Amino acid sequence: MLAGIEPAFSAGLKIKINAVAMHGGFETEVDDLIRFAHGQGMDLTLIEEMPLGDVSHDRRESHLSLTDLRHRLSGRWTLTPLPDRTGGPARYMRVAETETGGRLGFITPLSCDFCAGCTRLRVSATGELFTCMGEEGSVGLRDVLRSGESDQVLEARILDAVSRKPEGHAFRISSSGWRESPAPCPISEAETCTLPS
Ligand code: SF4
Repeated sequence: MLAGIEPAFSAGLKIKINAVAMHGGFETEVDDLIRFAHGQGMDLTLIEEMPLGDVSHDRRESHLSLTDLRHRLSGRWTLTPLPDRTGGPARYMRVAETETGGRLGFITPLSCDFCAGCTRLRVSATGELFTCMGEEGSVGLRDVLRSGESDQVLEARILDAVSRKPEGHAFRISSSGWRESPAPCPISEAETCTLPS
């Protein structure tokens, strides 16, 4: 990562670091990570781990609530909520100028569900349109694009996919571990969320 940052700086790119928050070493190193990122003039965004993909560790043990971590960070850093939006789900806080002056982001899909305001769509390199990271399904766009069909046909397929975009993911964490709920997560369940909306 460090080897990639310097050339990016030299090229004049604006850099932001994303870090997946996990129990263990991350908790003891997060203050240093804040100092490092902000010392280089970079935003740092912390992200809660989601149960997606295969990993070698036990997510029941690694899950770290960023809502809880933010409360702990508030005891060590002077954090002020910001209204800033960067086109994604991150909510930002400013660390006091006398400390780092940098911007600290939080992406909290589990402890502070932001699905109700999600407008995200993703298109893979193979032309698959994914309307939600919390679902496996996708809609193929490649055949339409390669068939020479009109833009209206393509638009209709996209709109059809968007009309079926889930209200939210169904991931929940509990003391007994991960479980999947059949119901989408309503934002009202995020009672622990106190980040600015
Ligand atoms: S609706 Fe899906 S893509 Fe949007 S924030 Fe929720 S899980 Fe992520």
